[in-house]
Amino acid sequence: MTQITLALSKGRIFEETLPLLAAAGITPSESPESSRKLIIGTNRPDVRLIIVRASDVPTYVQHGAADLGIAGKDVLMEHGGEGLYQPVDLNIAKCRMMVATPVGFDYEGAVQRGARLRVATKYTDTARLHFAAKGVHIDLIKLYGSMELAPLVGLSDVIVDLVSTGGTLKANNLVAVEEICQISSRLVVNQAALKLKHGEIQLIIDAFRRASGV
Ligand code: ATP
Ligand code: MG
Repeated sequence: MTQITLALSKGRIFEETLPLLAAAGITPSESPESSRKLIIGTNRPDVRLIIVRASDVPTYVQHGAADLGIAGKDVLMEHGGEGLYQPVDLNIAKCRMMVATPVGFDYEGAVQRGARLRVATKYTDTARLHFAAKGVHIDLIKLYGSMELAPLVGLSDVIVDLVSTGGTLKANNLVAVEEICQISSRLVVNQAALKLKHGEIQLIIDAFRRASGV
């Protein structure tokens, strides 16, 4: 029997993936939220799930430790997508990559003056590309979380972060001033596994594609 390993992250991606798994006839035997297990079986003896940090999903799939995975476009842009086949935009975990500033900060004016901007973000490659394309010079400050704090304490002028409702920005007196791109999660597949286990993997790709309506 061919074994298939699917890499997922906890939280919203796991929740929003459950209906897609169901469409492929896959039901996890336990929830990663309550279980501490990192390898989770399913009702299908040939399919198991591994639970990894969202930003680690492309790495597991690239190296073939997982055959398939689900990762946000934000994560894929930073990873580069090397060795990964990306057959389906699953239309889940949707949000936007935005530039945000403190309320009252004249972002347009700063850009037009050619001011040098201090940018705090977890998404350094994405930010570098975005500001280079605009011809804006930046000092990048790499953070691993809570980007909203940076402008409030003078660490940066602006942040680049994911925004969905804007509630966190608002609560911290920040405002989104520019959209960099729309984000959703994609199915990623190891290219060698797709060749070696083509029949099994293609069935999962097809079920996910039908269930995500694309
Ligand atoms: P961690 O929380 O472990 O630091 P993370 O922030 O990357 O890691 P999640 O918060 O679970 O992990 O986010 C996983 C993915 O969900 C992100 O890569 C992104 O594609 C998407 N996402 C993040 N924030 C939102 C949001 N507010 N609304 C919708 N989708 C989001
Ligand atoms: Mg998070």
